[in-house]
Amino acid sequence: MESFDLAIIGSGPGGYVAAIRAAQLGMKTAIIEKYNTLGGTCLNVGCIPSKALLDSSEHFHNATHNFTEHGIDVDNVRPNIEQMIKRKNEVVEQTCNGIKYLMDKNKIAVFNGLGSFKDSTHISIKDQDGKVTEIEAKKTIIATGSKPNFFPGMEPDKKRIITSTEALSLKEIPKKMIVIGGGVIGLELGSVFGRLGTQVEVVEFASSIIPTMDETMGKELTRVLKKEGFKFHLEHRVKSVVNKGDKVIITALNKKEVEVTFEADYCLVAVGRKPYTDGLNAEAAGVKITDRGQVEVNDYLQTSTPNIYAIGDVVRGAMLAHKAEEEGVFVAEHMAGQKPHMNYNLIPGVVYTWPEVASVGKTEAELVKEGREIKVGSFPIKALGRARASMDTAGLVKVIADSETDEVLGVHMIAPRAADLIMEAVVAMEYRASAEDIARICHPHPTYSEAIKEAALDAFEKRALHI
Ligand code: FAD
Ligand code: NAD
Repeated sequence: MESFDLAIIGSGPGGYVAAIRAAQLGMKTAIIEKYNTLGGTCLNVGCIPSKALLDSSEHFHNATHNFTEHGIDVDNVRPNIEQMIKRKNEVVEQTCNGIKYLMDKNKIAVFNGLGSFKDSTHISIKDQDGKVTEIEAKKTIIATGSKPNFFPGMEPDKKRIITSTEALSLKEIPKKMIVIGGGVIGLELGSVFGRLGTQVEVVEFASSIIPTMDETMGKELTRVLKKEGFKFHLEHRVKSVVNKGDKVIITALNKKEVEVTFEADYCLVAVGRKPYTDGLNAEAAGVKITDRGQVEVNDYLQTSTPNIYAIGDVVRGAMLAHKAEEEGVFVAEHMAGQKPHMNYNLIPGVVYTWPEVASVGKTEAELVKEGREIKVGSFPIKALGRARASMDTAGLVKVIADSETDEVLGVHMIAPRAADLIMEAVVAMEYRASAEDIARICHPHPTYSEAIKEAALDAFEKRALHI
């Protein structure tokens, strides 16, 4: 039986990054993945394929909506869904192959098969042909990720009632799609199809879309997406979804508890994701699972069995690839006796609509609830020269700072390339910058980043320059 210092179950961004860091630190490392490709949800059916389709559909949208204004006349522009999916698949394949290359480069043993604990130091791996291999590992990291969630009555049939996984490989452009859930997946994948001509209607339980982000973001994004043709049914709780062959019927209760029905050719169920531990046989290793299905961990991400750790979507916290990656590094370094640091308050969140939404730190509502004295500054994207040049004028940046110390406590933005812009705020906040610090840094002109400087000036002393 082969023996390892560390075995990692699951090769998503949590697992494969942990493997690389552990190998760098000199551990003899194995990674176990039940599918034939490495990379987990993120690379195969998550972050990467969704962004590939978002980019393709954005090009189509620009060609049909913005090119003429820019002085580019194009005729007969048509979407080719088959080619879009093919390109997306190629991007996924290249990215997954890149992970295999990184495993080989770092001399990490890759086992394809379902990993199951036999006890706290032995794992059996059953491949697709039923062949079982057993390995010994002094330490193990559980990085088994998550799967799409759904509630009773809305079980996906993967034909017309679909999850993000099927939506990423649809063979046709739906005429009408009902999206259950106005969260990240619903709005990103809704955008893909909305731009290609699908009539998209979002049925959301909360009183706003992206309800966990700063309220201003939901309001502005609603405005932008409505202009693109989205319809929103807020404060509607979906009770049932039925596939009638060529259409789906969705029944929801509105806030007055009145039954409302919707009809569409597809229904995308996007009501969150749930941690995945099926087949892991965690009990055999003494690993506790919480009532919510998460692997229970302490502050060092150790499970109830101290030589077994868990990271990423399968534990508490945001279900984000970069959070999983940081936890992978954290755990490998902790195992090696180092003193790593992770600031859960500074994990940025992004929604890849256009414009993108990005945020870091606390929302205004959270700070008010904590009783913090705050000051808020904001700046509209339309006041930037860069925005007028590119015709991307929707959005704003909001900076929240402590009233007394001026320390930045939260930055929220809806802006072109907000996903990249937010890093300025993350770096500033990691070094506990004040709004004045950001405001006094020279920002290149003309860029969207000038809106961050201006919003910081507004938060600091209400003295933005260009408004
Ligand atoms: P996963 O990536 O889920 O990987 C877990 C792996 O473990 C899987 O490959 C699984 O097959 C394997 N596994 C499970 N059990 C076993 C077992 N017993 N034996 C062997 N292998 C096993 N996050 C972002 O930060 N940015 C984005 O833009 C983004 N976009 C997304 C878009 C979509 C449509 C979806 C669905 C998700 C998106 N996410 C995004 C979330 C992101 O994909 C997850 O947060 C991330 O993949 C979690 O990483 P992980 O390593 O914890 O688990
Ligand atoms: P989500 O939690 O973002 O949104 C789910 C939405 O569904 C919520 O707004 C909720 O109020 C609503 N909802 C729940 N039950 C409902 C019901 N019965 N009727 C109507 N609405 C209902 O979840 P998601 O969009 O499925 O995404 C899952 C996870 O994947 C998220 O945690 C997210 O972090 C991750 N993800 C991240 C990205 C990114 O970083 N860009 C992209 C996609 C997914």
